Amino acid sequence: MKIIFEKSSSGRKAVELPELDVPMKENSIPESMLRNELDLPEVSEVDVVRHYTALSRKNFGVDNGFYPLGSCTMKYNPKINEDMAVLNGFTQAHPLAPDLNPGCLQLMYELEKDLCEITGMARITLQPAAGSHGELTGVMIIKKYFEVKGEKRTKILIPDSAHGTNPASVTLCSMEAVEIKSNNQGSIDLEDLKKNIDKDVAGLMLTNPNTLGLVDKNILEIAKILHDNGSLFYCDGANLNAVVGISKIADMGFDIVHLNLHKTFSTPHGCGGPGSGPVGVVEKLVDFLPIPLIEKENNEYSLNYNLKNSIGQMRAFFGNFGVMIKAYTYIKALGAEGLRQVAENAVLNANYLMSKLKKHYKLPYDTICKHEFVLSDEGLPNNIITTDIAKRLLDYGFHAPTIYFPLIVHGAIMIEPTETESKQTLDRFADVMIKIKQEAEQNPDRVKNAPSNTPVKRLDAVTAARNPILKWEGKC
Ligand SMILES: *Cc1c(COP(=O)(O)O)cnc(C)c1O
Repeated sequence: MKIIFEKSSSGRKAVELPELDVPMKENSIPESMLRNELDLPEVSEVDVVRHYTALSRKNFGVDNGFYPLGSCTMKYNPKINEDMAVLNGFTQAHPLAPDLNPGCLQLMYELEKDLCEITGMARITLQPAAGSHGELTGVMIIKKYFEVKGEKRTKILIPDSAHGTNPASVTLCSMEAVEIKSNNQGSIDLEDLKKNIDKDVAGLMLTNPNTLGLVDKNILEIAKILHDNGSLFYCDGANLNAVVGISKIADMGFDIVHLNLHKTFSTPHGCGGPGSGPVGVVEKLVDFLPIPLIEKENNEYSLNYNLKNSIGQMRAFFGNFGVMIKAYTYIKALGAEGLRQVAENAVLNANYLMSKLKKHYKLPYDTICKHEFVLSDEGLPNNIITTDIAKRLLDYGFHAPTIYFPLIVHGAIMIEPTETESKQTLDRFADVMIKIKQEAEQNPDRVKNAPSNTPVKRLDAVTAARNPILKWEGKC
């Protein structure tokens, strides 16, 4: 007997499917597709274990060193999160089980409520599987909102300091991304904004704090300009480390926000996952959220598919549940006070490091920063550039900061120390950065040829990107 689940007005109902009598035939795979020879390496278990352990040691992560990757929030992820995520009650739950698991629903419901409290939004969908997926969800909501209103608006404004995924999400949604200039303080140029605002503008997508680690001082005025024009204000809230527990996104005038649980709310991540990019909206946009929403009534949880203007479902089932468990654990373990401390320490650490380094490296936007700051390679001696600094840092046991982003800073070196690093680590990193500057003056070849003590030396990144060798041809 096979059971499937169909949507119904009250949630889901189980439907029994007739048994199909199709026995598995022997040798049902065509002869031509059968493999005669297996060319697998013959190795013992102990050799396999040693091989992978050796590989893992060549890897660099937050568990073995400082990882100041700006805009990515590579902070310490409490190990208790992992313990919670592998509890049997969670790992054995299946989204197609006949009875929806009330514990899982409760966790998602409460996580949504906590994130609503943190952002000030009315409701939040937990479905999107990444920040960029959240952006796509948000832009689809904006698009549908104007479709339902009967307005034809096709443009989304995006500042030139934005993360590359912002214009990509807009384009993917068949809307037009229009670039807005930043001023010499790293904020949106209001004159350029006013020049570009018209009745075709559906919204503006602003990263906040922005990729320079600054909160736009004119944020309320920007919100007013947009709302007076009937446009929506979207917040890329991927990096909430500097404001969590202190200020609410909705209070700044935003209508939609996506968060990156895998950054701010602690899940180890990198190169494509695992992620979770919840999207929050103000009251007037709740009806457009993906279905289903989780509701609670008389202490019972149910799935609500009744959203009149929903953009549909953005991902199978509920999203990346494991990441949600970790975010939930993190929020509950810290509480409101703890979250506020996260932000305070993230800002303190970034400013401490910035004040130490700005005497030695050019700091284009010299003002108090939030969770990160951006140095430039302008003025470094002997043609030393950002790549050289990043590679030399590896020799000293530090992961490189984010480099060459944001694009509005020449040779950007974007440093985010996060709240979880000690003063000793920050001092050591600052000392090494200062030492590299001295090497650039006295022994530039050393820096140009770095790294010299990593498992692989400087790679030809251009050839690797243009002619990747994706097939393994080695023999064991
Ligand atoms: C990381 C990031 C994103 C994209 O998030 P993913 O989960 O990697 O898709 C978008 N905007 C900003 C500002 C980010 O830092």
